[in-house]
Amino acid sequence: MFRDRLPVFPQTVQVDSRNHLVLGGVTASALVERFGTPLYVFDEATLRGQCSAFIGEFSARYPDVAVSYASKAFLNRPFARLLAEEGLGLDVVSGGEVAVAKSAGFPPGRVYFHGNNKGPEELKLALDWGVGRIVVDGFDELRLLNILAGESGLRQDVLLRISPGVDPHTHHHTTTGIIDSKFGFSLATGQAQEAMKQALEATNLSVIGLHMHLGSPIFEMEPFCQGIEVGMQFAAAMRDHHGMELREFSPGGGFAIQYTVDAPAPPISAYAEAITGALRKACETYGFDLPKLMIEPGRAIVGRAGVALYSVGAIKEIPGVRKYVAVDGGMGDNIRPAIYGSRYEALVAGSVESDGKERVTICGKYCESGDILIKDIELPLVKHGDIIAIPASGAYCIPMASNYNVVPRPPIILVNDGHAELWRRRETIDDIMGLDVF
Ligand code: PLP
Repeated sequence: MFRDRLPVFPQTVQVDSRNHLVLGGVTASALVERFGTPLYVFDEATLRGQCSAFIGEFSARYPDVAVSYASKAFLNRPFARLLAEEGLGLDVVSGGEVAVAKSAGFPPGRVYFHGNNKGPEELKLALDWGVGRIVVDGFDELRLLNILAGESGLRQDVLLRISPGVDPHTHHHTTTGIIDSKFGFSLATGQAQEAMKQALEATNLSVIGLHMHLGSPIFEMEPFCQGIEVGMQFAAAMRDHHGMELREFSPGGGFAIQYTVDAPAPPISAYAEAITGALRKACETYGFDLPKLMIEPGRAIVGRAGVALYSVGAIKEIPGVRKYVAVDGGMGDNIRPAIYGSRYEALVAGSVESDGKERVTICGKYCESGDILIKDIELPLVKHGDIIAIPASGAYCIPMASNYNVVPRPPIILVNDGHAELWRRRETIDDIMGLDVF
């Protein structure tokens, strides 16, 4: 029965003849012996496969597509280099993400700079480096960016982020395209129209299109189709009233992945079909040539590629109530269950299949009752020292990790074809204490 969970793991997952979990051709136990736990393992074949699947599925249906990876899902320099090799663009939201991309040698022309509160230093960094597009999110930024671009002697290409008023039916913490959102210019209030007017008048900015991001993860196609229709209707009005040229259009990211066996995600082809179809239709309705289509998958590129490995420590059984299995990580490296109520699957890496099973709750080591990674999951009988593998951990775990309780953050390993290489070393207590002025 536990094998049913394998499709949630990276595409190279295997179970060897000893019933051990194998990732990228390396047994999980060998990885743990070499690198310790907690450990985040990324499968290179899955990462590269997802990049080419997005490019392939969208390009097969639309002539001009840019796939811009949303770095917030996970970013470090080796990964930025891999993305550049795969031909993706990069969506960044802070000076820090700009700096990582720059240091990795990522082509600046393929970078989109987002964010609802970009500071002057961050904008200057982006302008000086020559980022391809800045996605303007508010009136203050519009004014500031026009001044800074002028000071740098530039005319900066920008997209305006609009808030189309479409509810994508995600957790309310990850819903962004509705009217009551800190992101973007609202269509319903008339602010988007005002922003467009100001942006077109700004002498150092060149408006090349529109952007929206509805939320994440979106399991249905309808919100994308609605968002595109509403956005393109707005584009037509802006063309007719203000002479805007639509060279690029982005319906954002938010493509779902499968976290649990009972919640499969739509294939990339379904999103590609719906989005390109809706955009073609809207172009026909409103009399536009096809603009460049920019999409921003984050989770769907990295999510499935990542597996978190933990060692079992304390086990606490409360008779008739619950059995807690504590691991050596938790909310410090994966906050998603605590803040979004996210569900995950798990396997015991050293005994994937088993006749015996029990219902347990996997909790972390942090000093919070809410530090629960998986509430109520069937597992083989576990004992101290077993390795628990949690799949679909590639997105929004490490980037949101903290040093709560002064626990160092885990390392990241890249596996491929039987080889494992360190992508980020384990943080040390000295790294953390080194920040103190003492
Ligand atoms: N684009 C923007 C503007 C976002 O805010 C986000 C996520 O918050 C994304 C893309 C990526 O979303 P996902 O990782 O679900 O694809």
